[in-house]
Amino acid sequence: MKRLLILVLTTCICASSHSAPIKAGFAERDITPKIGMERPGGYGKVFHRTFHDACKARAAVFDDGNKAVALVGLDALFIRKPSVDRVRAAIAARTGIRPGGVLIGASHSHSSGPVGMILPGEFDHASEWIQELAYKQSSVADPVYLKQMEQGIIEAVVEAFESRQTAQIGFGRGHEGEVQFNRRFHMKNGLTYTHPRYGNPDMLEPAGPIDPEVGVIGVWSADGKELLGCVVNWACHATTSPGGISANYVHYLEKAVRAVMGKDIVVCFLNGASGDITQVDNNSPVRQTGGEAAIKVGGSVGAETAKVLLKMQTRGTEAVIDHKLKMLEIPRRKPGAKRLAAAKELAGRPRKPTDNTTDWIFAKETLMLDALIAKEPVRKVEVQAIQIGPAVFLTTPAEYFCQFGLDQKKASPFAFTWPVSLANMLVGYVPTEAALGPRGGGYETRLTSYSNLVPDAGARMRDAGIDLAKSMKPGEPPKANDPMKFTAPWAYGAVPPEVD
Ligand SMILES: [Zn+2]
Repeated sequence: MKRLLILVLTTCICASSHSAPIKAGFAERDITPKIGMERPGGYGKVFHRTFHDACKARAAVFDDGNKAVALVGLDALFIRKPSVDRVRAAIAARTGIRPGGVLIGASHSHSSGPVGMILPGEFDHASEWIQELAYKQSSVADPVYLKQMEQGIIEAVVEAFESRQTAQIGFGRGHEGEVQFNRRFHMKNGLTYTHPRYGNPDMLEPAGPIDPEVGVIGVWSADGKELLGCVVNWACHATTSPGGISANYVHYLEKAVRAVMGKDIVVCFLNGASGDITQVDNNSPVRQTGGEAAIKVGGSVGAETAKVLLKMQTRGTEAVIDHKLKMLEIPRRKPGAKRLAAAKELAGRPRKPTDNTTDWIFAKETLMLDALIAKEPVRKVEVQAIQIGPAVFLTTPAEYFCQFGLDQKKASPFAFTWPVSLANMLVGYVPTEAALGPRGGGYETRLTSYSNLVPDAGARMRDAGIDLAKSMKPGEPPKANDPMKFTAPWAYGAVPPEVD
């Protein structure tokens, strides 16, 4: 009896103290679109005419010997679920990483490849006119490009997995809050506007927060000498398009990190809760778009990342890996009878030169949303948690408002909690309930084929992410590798003042 008890006890101890040396690998692939392809980011068609810098899929794989996960930072406006499903299946087949352990976060680059807004076939169920609006009058994904992008993600993850090695891992946070701004403002009329523009006499104070945290994971070779790669989390729209095909500010973020830390470092960037965050300061007369803004934003966050990495001297060799998924079912908001009738009146026919362009575009969106509701009135929404030791990434497939990310950080039991928006699928803007309330309003609250979930969608995603984080067992941040022990003070310095 006694012997049996000891045996059972031994088993328990082994199971609960599982830890193995962390292995990690990094790789990237070029997913630059071709000149002439569509450049998504608006509600109509725009095409790429010039090239500025390469768009990439940047992958990091972490493996504790028990579970493995892959993080992918994607230079894209977003990624849709069918692509993610195909990529996850291929990665599972080639590496054994479970589909739920693969996180693909789009940077929201407004200067990258044709991934939408609309997917080919998405409106085949609708009338001929709605198909015309969706396929001819809106930005549509290019199936050739989707294949190229998916292949790039798969190859980057497989190479990161195959090249994984025992490593030193560190965690840290920096601060960059001077190049990001909340773009929503309370107005004198009691509503909230998006980008009221500098000099607007009716503009009051910002309607929401920013989140200046720069979250960083650094991974070094086992001897600590070579930085292999890093994961960076920070929240801001990637709308600093420098002109032409570009990874947007992420290009300069990578450039800044590489300038300090080494030219081959893979920088896996995951955008935080940035649905209402922009590089544009509506309180400043200085223009904040284009190349200069891209350098300023990317360079500042990249320099801060390098600072965090340089100071990351406390590193571990173990980190527990875990991943969990939750699928929510969230209904769409339905356009009312009056809105629908007005939309039919305006966009139920080809646009006339006398039509107000903005009104026509959003009438088109109302009609397209109506068609989507006929097919799918309730959306399945994936929320994912990925643990790497003392850090957890909490995903939403939304252009998620900043406040939700701050709420998650506050409620999470982890030392480092990093929200990732536009991850693993796409549900458009998800504002706070206040933004959809009587004092709300603004661009993100417009009811479109892109953004249309019910007002409590954001809170439900937030709470699901927090629940997942709470169901995991956070690891301790690494302790000093070779801690110094006190023997004696510095002999030169341990004296009273010598004044004579
Ligand atoms: Zn956006």
